[in-house]
Amino acid sequence: MSKKVIVVGGGIAGLAAFRQLQVQQPNIDVVLLEASPQLGGKIRTTDFLGRQIDEGADAFITRVPWALELCDQLGLDSFLVSPASSNAYVLINGVLRKLPKGLVLGVPTKLLPLIRSRVVSPFAALRAGFDRFLPDDWPGDDESVGGLIRRRMGDQIADRLVDPLIGSINAGDTDHLDAALAAPQLETAARRHRSLISGLKEQTKKPAGTSAPVFLGLELGMGQLIETLVRSLGEADIRTGTPVTGINKNSGNLVVRTQQTSIECDAVILATPAHQAALLLAECQTAADRLSSIEHASVAMVTMGFRQADVGHPLDGSGMLIPRGEGLLTTAVSWGSSKWPHWTDTEHAIFRVSAGRAGDTRALALEDDELVEALLTEVANILDINGDLLEWRVSRWIDAFPQYAPGHDRLVAAIERDLRSEMGGLFLAGAGYKGIGIPACIQQGNQSAEAALDYLKTL
Ligand SMILES: Cc1cc2nc3c(=O)[nH]c(=O)nc-3n(C[C@H](O)[C@H](O)[C@H](O)COP(=O)(O)OP(=O)(O)OC[C@H]3O[C@@H](n4cnc5c(N)ncnc54)[C@H](O)[C@@H]3O)c2cc1C
Repeated sequence: MSKKVIVVGGGIAGLAAFRQLQVQQPNIDVVLLEASPQLGGKIRTTDFLGRQIDEGADAFITRVPWALELCDQLGLDSFLVSPASSNAYVLINGVLRKLPKGLVLGVPTKLLPLIRSRVVSPFAALRAGFDRFLPDDWPGDDESVGGLIRRRMGDQIADRLVDPLIGSINAGDTDHLDAALAAPQLETAARRHRSLISGLKEQTKKPAGTSAPVFLGLELGMGQLIETLVRSLGEADIRTGTPVTGINKNSGNLVVRTQQTSIECDAVILATPAHQAALLLAECQTAADRLSSIEHASVAMVTMGFRQADVGHPLDGSGMLIPRGEGLLTTAVSWGSSKWPHWTDTEHAIFRVSAGRAGDTRALALEDDELVEALLTEVANILDINGDLLEWRVSRWIDAFPQYAPGHDRLVAAIERDLRSEMGGLFLAGAGYKGIGIPACIQQGNQSAEAALDYLKTL
């Protein structure tokens, strides 16, 4: 009899796992159960001002290969687009300042552009330069991103550059995010070199002639990745609108329960957010407790459309970051129509305005109308907008950003151990565990599929 694997969750991690199972072992019976009516999870692209505009993720990094490889396998190469501008701004004491050249994840590697940018005070720029001369003071594992930057480069670099950037990618507070997991590039440079700046310069040395873009998007939005991936699965057994209510072990087999039925299977790939996984694994108490200890942050993303002529500030960049110290609700604004060539027309300006992060739930407490009004006031003030909002939409991403606290990797290893001993055949994948970006979720989907196939061989 053919073996059966159930994938729970149809975000990018679950779909990548499904595809990998199908490619590696076409003969096994694979079922995907997804709670919501549509697939894609946090990847969602919808129509806005006549264009396909992402409500969540709009790009993936190319420094790691997994998203690029998947796009290649799906024949999406010709749809890949890179941001039109590498400039960006940060708001400092109410004034927009261009980010200096030479930043790596917010860390300045060139001091002259940093001083000229006036993003930090001359003294703070000098303090950042001390990194070159300070002794090696690496404190060992479990350092936070903020801890690393503060000790090597001082508080202003941490608060005005690194936290706004890495904090907004994770909707987190970098003083509480594990450096090795949230910013591995920085952590590796700091661990391997006495000076962070030297380490980053070494890492970013490119062979002559290579200038691949750091980020890529898709012409029809990231939803194109989901649609193409799902299409590649053919007549697959994918059941949307089917929330799983629990998973348990019953005389050797795993049993996946939904509101309507119970399905027995040989292996499960659990690709829901960690807080959902905790609920589904209530019968495996230790793992469930550990899973529910992973904190999550929520974000509201308001997409706004204006007439380009009504925006006073030049839109010569991909967007702007707002440090916590500015005291605004807005945390970042992606100038979508300037960032992405395929969103651009001569008439409209489209902004994706983010609010909410770990420790700041003010925006999430507002009703849609109040939220739009509050963010509009802030953005119009900064960008000198004097005209009506043509169109807006609110996308609320509740508990969408897992916060990788220092030691998160050990927590995940402990959860995996719990599952091996009490729920053999169940494998986790997704943003809650080993990377929140799209490429990391794809890799986790692939790896969980391979682990499940190895497990099936033992039966
Ligand atoms: C606003 C925003 C912007 C982002 N921007 C970027 C970006 O630009 N680049 C980037 O790389 N990453 C970005 N990310 C992160 C990235 O999009 C996510 O981490 C990633 O898509 C998560 O994929 P996943 O499959 O792990 O989880 P999800 O997408 O959350 O999928 C999990 C699925 O499980 C389903 N589910 C939950 N409970 C059950 C249940 N009981 N039964 C059945 N199904 C269930 C859910 O409905 C969902 O479809 C962004 C995230 C957000 C929210």
